[in-house]
Amino acid sequence: MDRVRPPREALRDLAPYDAKHVDAEVMLASNENPLNLPGELLDRLEELVVRIPYNRYPDPMATRLREEIAEANGLEPGNVLVGNGGDELIMDLVLAWGGPGRVVLDFPPTFVMYSIDAKATDSTLVQIPRKPDFSIDEDALMARLARGDVDLVFIANPNNPTGTLAPETLLIDVLNATDALVVVDEAYFEFSRHTMRPHMSRHANLAILRTFSKAFSLAALRAGYLLAHEDVIAELTKVRQPYSVNRFTQAAARLVFRERPVFEAAISQLLRNRDMLVHGLSEIEGVEVFSSEANFVLFRVEHASAVWRDLLKEHSVLVRDFSRTPGLEDCLRVSVGTEEEVRRFLAAMDEIMARRRASAHFGVAAQAARHDEG
Ligand code: PMP
Repeated sequence: MDRVRPPREALRDLAPYDAKHVDAEVMLASNENPLNLPGELLDRLEELVVRIPYNRYPDPMATRLREEIAEANGLEPGNVLVGNGGDELIMDLVLAWGGPGRVVLDFPPTFVMYSIDAKATDSTLVQIPRKPDFSIDEDALMARLARGDVDLVFIANPNNPTGTLAPETLLIDVLNATDALVVVDEAYFEFSRHTMRPHMSRHANLAILRTFSKAFSLAALRAGYLLAHEDVIAELTKVRQPYSVNRFTQAAARLVFRERPVFEAAISQLLRNRDMLVHGLSEIEGVEVFSSEANFVLFRVEHASAVWRDLLKEHSVLVRDFSRTPGLEDCLRVSVGTEEEVRRFLAAMDEIMARRRASAHFGVAAQAARHDEG
């Protein structure tokens, strides 16, 4: 056959997730931990590598990891599901609670996988835009829930890419107002230190998503986990890929989880670096910076795409350009790096903004802007 019939209609306007996977000396685009695993853990991983029976399938449910996560959270293993990154668990949630004729709710600007997965599964996607300060529009949310047709709610807390934390009272109100499955995505929990975990016993419809990709330096291996009512987990096991979490990832995630106090000092340092980043950006003329409870900072700057390009091309600093996202016009997001990386980013921003001010002064701004759009 010299042609292929088209895929489902739902894919026609769907853009793939674009992680902008380009190399730079200073990588501040994906909210990773800027530090690799500590040396002592790398040594132990090296020993693990040769002990794995690569010919055998992994434990489908990652039983031992699951038990350890459950115990640390005061839960039973049946309340925990491990996935190939939080991303896989989001798809599992949408496969089980979304789908044709089912309503998935999110609050843009937010993590884009919720809407991509909802669209990819022909779910009905309902989006309640955040207010200009990026808080959730509580009145609109409650009015929508009152209609009684929402099946699945995604609240990233803190929200990516804005860094906003929703008040706990709002989240409790949501849990009381609906029997929809409410996913509170705590991918950045280790930085915000806020969790809805204490509310699980009262709310069967609460699911909490976490990841090893951020604070725990394991983005490369893909591991995330969900805490939820055992009935919710049981349903999710019907749609999940059985062997999605490979043996090495399971072993590495167990090691990291057991040794998690080792990461505390680095997390505290990253929070200090975040303060330095926010303070530094707020000192630069022409930059509006938003406060953040996570390991990244959103800021607004005129001609953001041109600034993004200058950061990369002239300074080898990679950040994320959100300027084409509705509600995030002229916004860039920078992840919190090491102290040196933050300094390098701030120096680059200083230089770029000073040059822009100078050229604006000489009346060539309009010309430069035209060039930038081209
Ligand atoms: N949720 C949020 C809010 C995120 O920002 C991310 C990562 N960008 C994820 C989930 C998924 O992370 P991972 O698949 O690496 O666990």
